[in-house]
Amino acid sequence: MISIRSCPICNLEQFEDYLKIKDHSISGEYFKLLKCSSCQFILTSPRPDDEQLGKYYQSKEYISHSDTNIGIVNKIYRIIRNYTLKQKIELIKNLNKQPNLIDIGSGAGYFLDACQKAGFNGFGIEPDETTRAGSISKFNIQVFDESYLNQIPESSIDLISMWHVLEHVPALNQRLQEIYKILKPNAYLIIAVPNCSSFDSKHYKEYWAGYDVPRHLWHFTPNTIIKLLSQHSFMHIKTLPMYFDSYYVSMLSEKYKHNFLGLIYGVAIGFLSNAKAFFSKKNRYSSQIYIFSKN
Ligand SMILES: [Zn+2]
Repeated sequence: MISIRSCPICNLEQFEDYLKIKDHSISGEYFKLLKCSSCQFILTSPRPDDEQLGKYYQSKEYISHSDTNIGIVNKIYRIIRNYTLKQKIELIKNLNKQPNLIDIGSGAGYFLDACQKAGFNGFGIEPDETTRAGSISKFNIQVFDESYLNQIPESSIDLISMWHVLEHVPALNQRLQEIYKILKPNAYLIIAVPNCSSFDSKHYKEYWAGYDVPRHLWHFTPNTIIKLLSQHSFMHIKTLPMYFDSYYVSMLSEKYKHNFLGLIYGVAIGFLSNAKAFFSKKNRYSSQIYIFSKN
């Protein structure tokens, strides 16, 4: 296990206990969340070391790494995925019509496949060997392991996307440095992460599925992610909501609470979370897309 000594954002070494959370989906083990006393960044500590982390991903039910049909929540997830894929492609087209892009954490490969069909040039980076091989054989796309990031020429990439990936990356600052180096000046970085200052997060507390310990090592809010990225010379351009994530996360959270009416409650809380974020005009959606450009 690794205990985080200093905050990756502000470097200070003072934390307060925030929550104790069960790994509801795989191991059943409990993990602690700490909150930095200075910048309020929330992180999982202690956490499994890099070699141990792999075993916490080994489940047929772990959705972003599998392609099996288990349960109604997963079925709904797949319907929504096809819709949101189209939205992601539109978003990218509005930034750059013909980007040379990298999708870091490309998982099962659906997004890269959609990019290829849209005529974009690009490839994926996926650390898990089985997932990587599966995506290549399913979609005829190019996907490499993480070490390939070091072989990419400096200032050669127009756009990098990380869809629900940064919260999984152990060497957070090192990864952002690598990304900065290979992007062209003014190129785009798109990061989607759960927002632990959302209404559904506050409602479900330790049952909130967005914590997903120990796979999620970092738990971002709009403030902490923008602060982290600004330290790496990325300019925040805009934040976009992911409307469907509140429903998915709320239904999953209800499942963790063993609520037999969970689907109905989950939909209600998901709706309420979106409505509160919308009417408050604050960026407080369950998950959000942050668009940055390289300064
Ligand atoms: Zn801090």
